Amino acid sequence: MSKKKSYCCEMMKTNTSFNCDLHVDKYDCPDTLIDHNIESSYFSIIIHDGGTSGIEINFCPWCGSKL
Ligand SMILES: [Zn+2]
Ligand SMILES: [Zn+2]
Repeated sequence: MSKKKSYCCEMMKTNTSFNCDLHVDKYDCPDTLIDHNIESSYFSIIIHDGGTSGIEINFCPWCGSKL
């Protein structure tokens, strides 16, 4: 069993990981597209409306893999 979550593709990995010098929260950062909830292990597309809303997705928007 691996603790490290593997991503289906590089796009998913890049857009899920948050490293931005300008924003403290990923929901504030327009460059961060996907939120990965570790506890529930679901992925959601962040809606940048100033809040913390997102649309849960079951498939990767880039490669189409089931998440
Ligand atoms: Zn993918
Ligand atoms: Zn940012």
